[in-house]
Amino acid sequence: MKIGALALQGDFREHLATLRRLGVEGAEVRTPEELAAVDALIIPGGESTTIGKLAHIYGLIEPIRECVRAGMPVLGTCAGMIFLASGTTDGDQDQLHLLDVVVERNAFGRQVDSFEADMQVAGRAEPVHAVFIRAPWIHKAGADVEILAAVVDPSSGEERPVVVRQGNILATSFHPELTSETWVHELLVAAATDHSQPS
Ligand code: GLN
Repeated sequence: MKIGALALQGDFREHLATLRRLGVEGAEVRTPEELAAVDALIIPGGESTTIGKLAHIYGLIEPIRECVRAGMPVLGTCAGMIFLASGTTDGDQDQLHLLDVVVERNAFGRQVDSFEADMQVAGRAEPVHAVFIRAPWIHKAGADVEILAAVVDPSSGEERPVVVRQGNILATSFHPELTSETWVHELLVAAATDHSQPS
């Protein structure tokens, strides 16, 4: 079993280091051929407009869509969540339209644009440690999107999801690859193991 990290821009190396800590083989993915050789894909944090433009130039948009629609597990963190989504609150950019959410980029505002917090996630007994860096939150989610963790928007009082799952798609606003915790990657590895060994 091999898990790919989209290696166009952003902190893909940190994701590959987390996979190594779990004893899972990782690979950098920059071409459709490299994508075809992995059982799951991580889309890292970074700058979502750059990742989107480069994915377009490298001819990866349609191949990623096809793989994920065919059931390949995918994890998007921060900019990766934005790239997986179906829209943003502030205009058009290259997105995969696989995750049925509209995201608000840089949602936490200037004063607290980067911070760390412990938060509860559905299905986990202990709080998780989350590193937010100019992070998005989910403004609006479709009916098939399961919300695993959310924060409250202080200006509207509304809940804004920060960890979601939609079938084989998992996305976090924060950066699990920057902490010592491996639970997000373990969820992806479990999904990839199921996907690579169909019963
Ligand atoms: N603010 C970035 C964006 O909009 C995301 C930041 C990140 O991935 N840490 O793409």
